[in-house]
Amino acid sequence: MDKEMIRKYAQLIVKAGVNIQKKQILVIFSPIECAEFTRMVSQFAYEEGAGDVVISWRDELSTKIRMLHAPEEALDEFPAWTKELHMSYALRGAAFLSISASDPELMKDVDANRMSKAMKTKNLALKDYADRLMSNKNPWCVVSVPTLAWAKKVFPGMAEDEAVEKLWDSILVSVRADAVDPVAAWEEHKSNLAERMEFLNSNNFKYLIYKNSLGTDLKIELPKNHYWLAGSEHTPEGQVFIPNMPTEEVFTLPVKTGVDGTVVSSMPLNYNGNLIENFSLTFKKGRVVEFSAKKGYESLKNLVETDEGSHYLGEVALVPNDSPISNSRTLFYNTLFDENASCHLAIGKAYPCFKDANELTDKDFEERGVNDSLEHVDFMIGTPDMEIIGVKDSGEEIPVFRSGNFAF
Ligand code: ZN
Ligand code: ZN
Repeated sequence: MDKEMIRKYAQLIVKAGVNIQKKQILVIFSPIECAEFTRMVSQFAYEEGAGDVVISWRDELSTKIRMLHAPEEALDEFPAWTKELHMSYALRGAAFLSISASDPELMKDVDANRMSKAMKTKNLALKDYADRLMSNKNPWCVVSVPTLAWAKKVFPGMAEDEAVEKLWDSILVSVRADAVDPVAAWEEHKSNLAERMEFLNSNNFKYLIYKNSLGTDLKIELPKNHYWLAGSEHTPEGQVFIPNMPTEEVFTLPVKTGVDGTVVSSMPLNYNGNLIENFSLTFKKGRVVEFSAKKGYESLKNLVETDEGSHYLGEVALVPNDSPISNSRTLFYNTLFDENASCHLAIGKAYPCFKDANELTDKDFEERGVNDSLEHVDFMIGTPDMEIIGVKDSGEEIPVFRSGNFAF
């Protein structure tokens, strides 16, 4: 791997990812394996004038030990100080960086019910924090750095060093750190995504109809005045940031009760350290009425049954089959990458994708059909033969996807 490119990546995250402002605090959630990279990010953040850098380390193997052995009642508890860490800095306007790099099958020996209990406890405790981030009140950014366990899963059969190196290369290319000027490369990428956004926004579709040979046959209603987003977001104060690096998606939200038909997954889903594979969901008036999975059925069941909102969808995202991550023909077992290789939907909470989102109340959200849940889990549905038709208010039909790619 190229050390200089890794430095450029760290710099890119600070400058364009969270876009740290003078005196702003940066909170980093980092696996201990990624310490070297996290230190580099921290150094660049101070150089850019960060008010402070606060690092919250995690060790997934310790988490696994807890998940296997802690008494049942411990899983109902979430440390008050961890909640305080998130909320106190959020209220002070901090920027949040998460490094996503878990072993995709870390929790495969853990009872799915214990897992879901602990996740629910965590999501409930951090609900206010998640609400703030999902409505972009704070700048936030999710990136990845290879770990050995993850690299071995992505490139099985390869020598350990080689697998890690290969994963580094894949990540660096996908985030354009190989460009001469990565920050400028992102500006160009964002303007390409903006063209797709404009097409979708100007058509203001009422429905999208999905069909492919896997068995997907789904009709999704989009809310009035919905807005498609892509690339970067901004806080109410106007701080521009990039929530996901890489990102190839253009996304909006569905009407909570406006989804009908069946959708079939096209990639395995890594849900809290368990893989769910070859699954399908059937919706009636937005609600999941039936589901199946060839692998990981218990995990899927726990996901769907987390709360009322997890029976509904909260995101509609379009990614062409012909995109850099998809063309790498690599299955990353990490949603940050896999979602950017494929059209996807999310189970659970919706991002309020409206132009006037900042002026809307919870009641307005409910009236517009914005779903709420403790969960927001993307799952991949794109295939090379995916056809998507957009239906306008007038009934006019316009092809949006043809053979897996944008039709315009
Ligand atoms: Zn997405
Ligand atoms: Zn999502």
